[in-house]
Amino acid sequence: MVAEYSKPLPNPLHRETSRPFWEAARRHELSMQRCTACGRLVWYPRELCPFCLSSALEWARLSGRGRLHSYTVIHQPANPAFQGDVPYIYAIVELEEGPRIVSNLVECAPEQARIDMALEAVYDDVTAEVTLVKFRPAGQ
Ligand SMILES: [Zn+2]
Repeated sequence: MVAEYSKPLPNPLHRETSRPFWEAARRHELSMQRCTACGRLVWYPRELCPFCLSSALEWARLSGRGRLHSYTVIHQPANPAFQGDVPYIYAIVELEEGPRIVSNLVECAPEQARIDMALEAVYDDVTAEVTLVKFRPAGQ
């Protein structure tokens, strides 16, 4: 944990709906909603399944494993708070369970990033309340 963390933190619009995701992240687990009516995983957190409109959503723990679906290397961040991090990798990760999640690829030099490389989740405890889910090359 970095006590003086001063970058913007995620500010979920629907705090109650997404609370289990953030609580899981604090436990260093990746969690996502699963619809008990149609069985599909739902990302991002919602009140209704986007596939069948059921409200029967439960939370499921995922493996945290995935592959790099796409990425870009950030040299000029939109928010100046992240200027000290450049260059960093903004990644779309395809989880082994199927859904794609936007995150950062860390512990990987930009020139070492490769589409479809195996990744695993890592958990960045940026404050006492907030843990960010990021990804790194698998097997490190
Ligand atoms: Zn459904």
